Amino acid sequence: MAEIEELQTMFTVVPVSNDGQFCEGKQTGNGHKFGLKSPAQGYDVEADQSDTLTQNSITSLLSSKFRDVAKRWRQYGVDSPRFRKRLHSKWESMNYEIIDSQLQRKLNEEKVSKRKLAMLMLSNWLVYFAIGIGTALMAAGVQIIVELIAHQKFSLLKTYLDKCSTDKENCLYQPILIWMSINVGITLLASALVTYLQPMAAGSGIPLIKSYLNGVRIPGLLSLQAFVAKCVGVVLSILGGLACGKEGPMAHSGGIIAAGIGKGRIPWFKKYIDLYGLFRTDHNIRDLVAAGAASGVSAAFGAPVGGTLFSVEEAASFWNTELVWKVFFSAMVACFSTNFLLSAYEGHPTQLSNPGLVRFNTFPNLTFDLIEIPVFIIMAAIGGLIGSLFVVMNYKLTVFRQKYLHRKKWIKVVEASLVSGVSALAAFVLMFTIKDCTTAEPYNGHAFNTTMGCDGEGHNAMSTMFLTTPEGCLKALLHDSYDNYSVLTLVLFVTVFFFLGVWTYGLSVSSGVFIPSLTIGAAWGRLIGLGVIQLFPNQVLTSKAKDVGKYALIGAASQLGGCLRTTISLTVIIVECTGDITFGLCIMLALMISKWVGDFFTTGLYDMNVEVSGIPLLSWEPPPLCDHVYVSDFMSQPVMTFLPVEKVGHVYECLMGESFNGFPIIEQDPNCDSRYKGKLRGIILRFQILVLLSKKVFCQEGQVPSNQNSITLKDFQKTSPVAVRIEDIQLTDQEKQYVIDFRPFMNQTPYTVSLNFSMPRVFRLFRGLGLRHLVVVSDEFEPIGMVTRKDLAKYRAEIKKGMLHMEHLT
Ligand code: ATP
Repeated sequence: MAEIEELQTMFTVVPVSNDGQFCEGKQTGNGHKFGLKSPAQGYDVEADQSDTLTQNSITSLLSSKFRDVAKRWRQYGVDSPRFRKRLHSKWESMNYEIIDSQLQRKLNEEKVSKRKLAMLMLSNWLVYFAIGIGTALMAAGVQIIVELIAHQKFSLLKTYLDKCSTDKENCLYQPILIWMSINVGITLLASALVTYLQPMAAGSGIPLIKSYLNGVRIPGLLSLQAFVAKCVGVVLSILGGLACGKEGPMAHSGGIIAAGIGKGRIPWFKKYIDLYGLFRTDHNIRDLVAAGAASGVSAAFGAPVGGTLFSVEEAASFWNTELVWKVFFSAMVACFSTNFLLSAYEGHPTQLSNPGLVRFNTFPNLTFDLIEIPVFIIMAAIGGLIGSLFVVMNYKLTVFRQKYLHRKKWIKVVEASLVSGVSALAAFVLMFTIKDCTTAEPYNGHAFNTTMGCDGEGHNAMSTMFLTTPEGCLKALLHDSYDNYSVLTLVLFVTVFFFLGVWTYGLSVSSGVFIPSLTIGAAWGRLIGLGVIQLFPNQVLTSKAKDVGKYALIGAASQLGGCLRTTISLTVIIVECTGDITFGLCIMLALMISKWVGDFFTTGLYDMNVEVSGIPLLSWEPPPLCDHVYVSDFMSQPVMTFLPVEKVGHVYECLMGESFNGFPIIEQDPNCDSRYKGKLRGIILRFQILVLLSKKVFCQEGQVPSNQNSITLKDFQKTSPVAVRIEDIQLTDQEKQYVIDFRPFMNQTPYTVSLNFSMPRVFRLFRGLGLRHLVVVSDEFEPIGMVTRKDLAKYRAEIKKGMLHMEHLT
């Protein structure tokens, strides 16, 4: 009993509404549903993880079912990473499977002329072409605006810094105040835009796009609001002086453009203006979004092959040769068009000299000696270590944010503004205190720098890295000559920028992590380069030429690999960015080893984001140690089924009472009394039933609804599955007596498995076919269990006390 009392102090019993939300303070009677609310509720434990129960059974449930959960809570504490890995009820699955209904078959049987087929194919390729063009327009627009305004901002700061640092003026408070005010003001706008318009636009968007392509529905991710918040937001974030890049958000924006072009409709005051509707199935949109993400990366780095591979490796879950070809086509169009647009902007459109938003530019001396390889390997290991430190720190910060900061929207905005103010202050303090003056010319002759602290002799080296955009800073670190920065300058820069990068990623602003990671890596890589030249002045090629650029490049690659853990695509992206294949081997080594070292400590940054958000992502491979787990261990039973022709009232009650998204249809066994026992005949989705109910496709028993024949597949495609709710459908008592016929609409050939299927086999079915539901059938082909992707995603392997064991997330 004492234990139950203790448990009750850990969980509060709270009434739960039918849609699974906690509704504290509302009147409830006996028989109402209740949920157990955890101390951390509001950020990681939602209604479905707390289960629902009736008032009378609370005590018994507390002592049995929740004891286990509470034990773990006690064991690991409220902040335990394990509990961040809970699955979140708000993420639903996509319907990637094509519904094999009578309606679909009728459509399949329609004779299609060769001409129509050709037109269809052509329009399909046109859509992929348009995705490339759309992404390029967006990318070039973002680049031009950022460069234009950044130029004004840094030129203003330079003027004030130069002027005020002289003994005569002595007004250094002015530039820092101006710098901080500009940063805070712009970041305030950037964060407010994302926070209030579409929070899904926060961050780089790549983890969310990856989850979407894996089969998870993320409301708002591909909306017009997300597009505006993403594109305008990223411009503002960079101008606001945050330690972030615009390359990651390009993948998300490309995905939104792709979905928009594919759907062919324009949102208009909560309605849509339909233009065309050829590619509206989840399946089609998924493929287009994969192309959009690839185009975004391609436009950002001028790397079409790398972009395509990035989409394959990091984002998309379903591939075939034709799709890869189409995605590559889009990526190539995006790269070429961005190049054309940026070159045209610079006044020489035919020269095509701007292949991406960020170029590493050609390295004059990218050759290497084999004896340098051990140094590169050590650097890769360092990259893995620093990368995982970045992930761990960012993870802790994300949990802290979810717990304390992200409960109120305005706090998010204030935090982002604070970070931008601190970024300006830190840069100023570093420039002011270090006074590392150099006469070496910066690689980019147009780069801004100040003479602050140099008494007319050269310029402040630190200012070259801070009076520019993060991309400019990266280029400076990669290409500036050996003696441009002192060791102290680099050490302090890398430390401060690392902390700013950790603090910035996860703010409620549109921001990418590619460039900050590359910059951090380039800075410590440069340091190592300086060390190598000092230690072996005559041995390695670099030493003779005193070129630290390639060490900076290896450092950048290692840091990025240690953070993101992507190997093939990043190797290709960096090789495409440098335009030198001979150095590809070293880049690959750096990325591979940094990934191995990083994986030893943590998951990658994107995977950490996915886990913290509780998204039910299915990885490529089934979890280890699950060979002995059989479908009977994790299926849900008993199964709620419907007959092919059901009473509307009964269907309505069932949908009101349960939130299941799929219902097997059975043929009633004439020899059995139970009307819910019989052979499986199909499966119908909740969303399909809701569309049928809202369109009133039902009639009196023995008749055929007058509107049944007018329902087409487009009626289902037009409606967003999350837009229709059973609570919004009103039925009269008379209508509830009618019957609804599921036969024309149900999937007649659902995937089924028998009880003795093991988890790895079921996992591969879900992963390979993009399933949402799997029906478990008995030897008599009667449905006896249901499995969804969340049932699978709950299984994870964990290392506990040095041993690998299975954990079943609740
Ligand atoms: P998603 O909403 O993303 O498809 P989910 O797991 O939330 O995933 P639901 O269909 O809501 O999908 O199912 C919730 C739980 O209920 C799952 O554990 C599933 O196995 C079970 N379930 C689904 N449909 C039925 C059904 N018709 N009868 C009994 N249990 C079901």
